[in-house]
Amino acid sequence: MKCPNCGYENRANFKFCKKCGNDLTLPPAWFPTWKWHLKTLSWIYLILIAVFFIASYFLRKLPPPYHIRKIPDEMTPWLHPHKVPPP
Ligand SMILES: [Zn+2]
Repeated sequence: MKCPNCGYENRANFKFCKKCGNDLTLPPAWFPTWKWHLKTLSWIYLILIAVFFIASYFLRKLPPPYHIRKIPDEMTPWLHPHKVPPP
């Protein structure tokens, strides 16, 4: 890493310049505040809740699974052998 103060080429793991002692550790460009966390987490939860309700709305519109569907007795007389079909 090149020192921004004197231009001396230091090794990448050095925290201070070997020549002039300049601090080579860069401060983070941006650090999230608790407000940013609160805003971001609320948006994530809001989107998750909205996706849940939208998905359940559309899933409710689908026909129920085959084994839950109500099938008329006339269509399956072999399942009701003792029931006499109407003439
Ligand atoms: Zn330096």
